[in-house]
Amino acid sequence: MKHRLCVIGYGGMGGWHVEHALKSDVVELAGIWDIKPERRELARSRGIHVYGSLEEVLADPTVELCTIATPNDVHKPLAIACMEAGKNVISEKPVTLCVDDLKEMIAVSERTGKLFTVHQNRRWDVDFLAVKDLYQTKALGEIYSVESRIHGSRGIPSDWRGLKEYGGGMLYDWGIHLIDQMLQIYANEKIVSIYCEFDNVTTDVVDDGFRLTIGFDNGARGYIEVATCNFIAMPRFYVLGKKGSAIIRDWRENCNVVICDYWHEGEVIPVQTAAGLTKTMAPRDEITTHSYECARPVSDVHDYYRNICATLEGKATQIVTHEQMVRVLTVIELAFKSAEEGKIILDKPL
Ligand code: NAD
Repeated sequence: MKHRLCVIGYGGMGGWHVEHALKSDVVELAGIWDIKPERRELARSRGIHVYGSLEEVLADPTVELCTIATPNDVHKPLAIACMEAGKNVISEKPVTLCVDDLKEMIAVSERTGKLFTVHQNRRWDVDFLAVKDLYQTKALGEIYSVESRIHGSRGIPSDWRGLKEYGGGMLYDWGIHLIDQMLQIYANEKIVSIYCEFDNVTTDVVDDGFRLTIGFDNGARGYIEVATCNFIAMPRFYVLGKKGSAIIRDWRENCNVVICDYWHEGEVIPVQTAAGLTKTMAPRDEITTHSYECARPVSDVHDYYRNICATLEGKATQIVTHEQMVRVLTVIELAFKSAEEGKIILDKPL
């Protein structure tokens, strides 16, 4: 039996959920609801059932699951209305804008017994999975630094993402994905410090980029950089362990690893710099190291909906838990605080 889904908000991401539902082996599309007449008209022209109002969605007993793909500021009221009407809810990310609001939403989920989760679909990204695998297998020895970067070159999109009242800005937009990934990589470590700086290159209204350093209690750090005004992009991931280094240059590229097999070298050949020779910064030879390319992780993002449906059938538990949602949003809140106050936030371990 397929679970009937209504997509609320038929914009860019709502369109993705609709496309997914039309091909899915676990959900079927009941229809969509969007406040904009032109989006409803577009859906109709594509043969999609369009509800006449949110109330009509909520009153349809055949709708079991609602996916909310609206701008960030209205996730909370829509999610609560859906759960109160007996619907299970997937919210697009960020699930909402502050931890207190999220706790209210979780309380409604617990009271109504309805599933409530967030679409952290980038847990299925192969670049992230390759780094998570390096961490878990200790292939680089103990990892002490993970740098996760994404660099665009067109500024922040000119839609609601550039406006504060809609929950715009890159920390909420891409930050939430990369923070969620980082906390999945350092899954067993507690956060002990947070430092964040914002970029305002193309707008002063919201952050159009940020640099966030998360310190963990084992001494390791996660560095996240999102930027939208870079005409030369830095590598997607750069990872340092005590025995090796790894790099993923681009979303589409595999992970490349260099392992140091013998710490002590025979003869170090110096490299020439502008001001003279250096041995300290000379790369290692191929006698003391070996390198390889990691196999591409196997991943299917459609497993997200498969997990939701298995959870509804009592055969699984939701992959993105309430606890994880609160932790990620707490990091976002502390990152805003750090950027505003211009200092490292050292809170109790998180
Ligand atoms: P969008 O502007 O393209 O679409 C939003 C749609 O929501 C619009 O059609 C708008 O009319 C509609 N809408 C606004 N308020 C509404 C309401 N109260 N009821 C019903 N419809 C309403 O935005 P988007 O790029 O599709 O982003 C939507 C959400 O998806 C955001 O939360 C965003 O962060 C998220 N998103 C997630 C991913 C991902 O990879 N998980 C990617 C892109 C966007």
